[in-house]
Amino acid sequence: MLIVTQPTNLGYLMIDNRAGGELPPGISSPFFEAATYTCTHCQSVVVMNPERKRERYKCTGCSHLLCDNCGAKRAAGAPCKTWAQLIDEVANLEARGLDTSLVLPTELVEAPAQTTPVDNNSALIIP
Ligand SMILES: [Zn+2]
Ligand SMILES: [Zn+2]
Repeated sequence: MLIVTQPTNLGYLMIDNRAGGELPPGISSPFFEAATYTCTHCQSVVVMNPERKRERYKCTGCSHLLCDNCGAKRAAGAPCKTWAQLIDEVANLEARGLDTSLVLPTELVEAPAQTTPVDNNSALIIP
């Protein structure tokens, strides 16, 4: 019997800013290393903060670590639905010519149209 106690298939993030310059937001050390994982419900890549004390939500449906947003939804009673299952459902509805907005998360259905942002304070000026 195989018992896995640690998350497997973790990714790796390294930010090496020892040569100087501005640090990315939320990073206090010029050399930062952390494990990452991909949330199976929304495909977000989560950087595992080594200083975090709170437990991460492991979905009992798909046995994977979730991001905090999906973990909160799952803890509030949302069913387990992985990204692959969602894509399957949408593809099946599309193939039958049916409305996909019923299965898509509201944040994807109601997303505003992509527009080019107007940045009046742009530091990058190309002559
Ligand atoms: Zn997620
Ligand atoms: Zn799940």
